[in-house]
Amino acid sequence: MPVILDTQNSMRAARLLRFCYLCGRNFNPAEKVNSDHVPPTGLFAIADRNFPLILPTHQKCNAMRSADDQVVGQLVGVIHGRKPNPTHKKFRVSVGRFKDGSPAIAVRGLDLDHIIWRWVRGFHAALYNEYLPEDTRFLICPPLPEAELSASGPQFLPVAEAIPKFVEELKRNRATCTLDRIVCRNGKCRYECIWDQAEDGTWICIYALDLYQWIDLGHTSSSEPRGCIGSYIRSGGNVPMGATCATRLEFPISNHARLDPFGA
Ligand SMILES: [Zn+2]
Repeated sequence: MPVILDTQNSMRAARLLRFCYLCGRNFNPAEKVNSDHVPPTGLFAIADRNFPLILPTHQKCNAMRSADDQVVGQLVGVIHGRKPNPTHKKFRVSVGRFKDGSPAIAVRGLDLDHIIWRWVRGFHAALYNEYLPEDTRFLICPPLPEAELSASGPQFLPVAEAIPKFVEELKRNRATCTLDRIVCRNGKCRYECIWDQAEDGTWICIYALDLYQWIDLGHTSSSEPRGCIGSYIRSGGNVPMGATCATRLEFPISNHARLDPFGA
């Protein structure tokens, strides 16, 4: 049976985890414990704040949270129509042009991969009651085109070859109801994942995350819209207890939007 956390009741156990998902240590009575909202409340419109996924953390671990969360909040806020809060850290956005002349927007200096990775570790802890170390091998394709600055302007990086295959695998397993899933914040935050075995026997978690259809953030005439997709491998290369393994069934699926894990 897939692990599905999509009701307030099903998420209650996550609040009672005995370990901190950020450092992996168990709580002891002398330490102050925080309630960490994953992803943070500031990202969501007021109408969508219920119900959150809440995980306990050491106060000390949580204090290291990056101010970049505010910037992601502004970025996501653009989609749900919020006006930026002027007291928050400023958006560092550069506007350039693609080769065909269409406008390109890049967010400079925002380590979106790192922020998303932290949330993924929270989702893993909530789904499997297990700590996922920060230095786990992982891959993230964020929902915006990634660029490197060069003398001739921003150079957009190609999407990793594995990503369209991951999208197909997620869609195939959605069709067979074999995805583990977290849905919170009035359905505006969706995380889905599946454990699939590589040819060498290593098990890989393939995941996708949607916030307010943020695939629209990177949608331009010259870059293919892409969702947030990624993978990681537990040390040891096996599957956590209770996790759902990918279907072995081979069948054709429609995959028009090859970089959109939640699309058709
Ligand atoms: Zn901790």
